[in-house]
Amino acid sequence: MTRDYDVIVLGLGALGSGAAYWLAKRGARVLGLEQFEFGHARGSSHDWSRIIRLSYFSPAYVQLAKEAYAAWSSLERDAQEQVVFKTGGLDIGPRASAIPLAGYAGSMRACDVPFEELDAREIRKRWPVWKIGDEIHGLFQADGGIVAADRATAALRRVATALGATLREDVAVSALRSVNGEIDIAAGSERWRAGKLVIAAGAWTDRALAHFGLRIPFEVTKEQVMYFRARELSSFAFGRFPIWIWMDDPAFYGFPVFGETGAVKVTQDAGGKAVDPDTRGFEEDPEISARVSGFMERYLPGALGPVARLKTCLYALTPDRDFIIDALPGLPNITVTVGGGHGFKFASVIGRMLCELALDGRVSLDGGSGRLDLSIFKIDRPVLQMTEPRKTYML
Ligand SMILES: Cc1cc2nc3c(=O)[nH]c(=O)nc-3n(C[C@H](O)[C@H](O)[C@H](O)COP(=O)(O)OP(=O)(O)OC[C@H]3O[C@@H](n4cnc5c(N)ncnc54)[C@H](O)[C@@H]3O)c2cc1C
Repeated sequence: MTRDYDVIVLGLGALGSGAAYWLAKRGARVLGLEQFEFGHARGSSHDWSRIIRLSYFSPAYVQLAKEAYAAWSSLERDAQEQVVFKTGGLDIGPRASAIPLAGYAGSMRACDVPFEELDAREIRKRWPVWKIGDEIHGLFQADGGIVAADRATAALRRVATALGATLREDVAVSALRSVNGEIDIAAGSERWRAGKLVIAAGAWTDRALAHFGLRIPFEVTKEQVMYFRARELSSFAFGRFPIWIWMDDPAFYGFPVFGETGAVKVTQDAGGKAVDPDTRGFEEDPEISARVSGFMERYLPGALGPVARLKTCLYALTPDRDFIIDALPGLPNITVTVGGGHGFKFASVIGRMLCELALDGRVSLDGGSGRLDLSIFKIDRPVLQMTEPRKTYML
């Protein structure tokens, strides 16, 4: 078997497409394999929009988010296409909440990210559609916004291909073997050999790792997003309303009107049930729908209206919801990533990290700030060694 490629990327959702983009930019011979058609709706990366923000629960993630914006700008230049749209971001919730805003404020302060602390009166003044009492407060950060999801992954693949990568759809990898420091990959009757492998298989990660006898505690849930033909639609127009996250348990989040939808997207974070990615259905989860409309009736009644569109999507959840961005123990030429149900905004920079891990064996990010603690993304971190780890899905 000749070595056909320097690197093979397994899975071309947002994270795998990000890796293929950066690997091709570095001049590596890249083959990317996707089991379904590009842009399919069976995994985690489809639909019109994803939230991007600098406001995060730890300085490490704030620092990584800064790098993500820079990496998306790199793609926008190469693709000659805008994929990040700033709307401002509002973190909002009760002062006594399951997800205290103080952690977010502290992390942004530690990373010199400007933001405003808003009381309920100021929130009501700026966005009268919020029906909130004085026990509610918020943080507003101007760089919060939207990544145009489908368009961003298509642009990553388009530029990677233009730079020489070979990306194939409808090719399901069925066998993986490490042989004398190289990787043998098979999909049906086709076989390839490569020096390195990047596993970006999302909800199917455990199946890919099983080929190397590895198992991590990992849960796949079926989530859903809903688009409402809001009765006060103009109040949610792009440019008049921010992306927002309701920081409590349950947690909800939403978008201004964006793209072709002509509707307001609202949903619950991590409200879905555990599923098998190969056998799961695509039907509505009435419990999530009831929680979302109950929340909107109370706090955002102007956004309510007929449901114009409902989409389901998979979260690939580590117990602590931290990402995995690491080489496999004892197999330094195989890197793996899992996006923990909040990875899209970082796909640009996670792609770069996977590329550097594959080609250089180390990540060069951090710009010397020392804030980017990569140990939180390790595959051998303690919580991933446990058979029954405690799950903390609240971000
Ligand atoms: C409802 C919802 C809302 C979200 N909102 C946000 C948000 O606002 N902001 C944010 O940052 N993140 C958000 N996320 C999370 C984010 O979308 C994911 O973390 C990210 O898309 C994960 O990308 P991925 O490439 O790992 O997964 P995927 O897109 O699922 O890609 C994995 C790919 O691997 C392929 N694959 C698997 N096995 C094989 C095989 N054997 N052979 C070939 N191909 C294979 C799969 O077909 C799939 O295409 C949200 C997720 C959901 C579900």
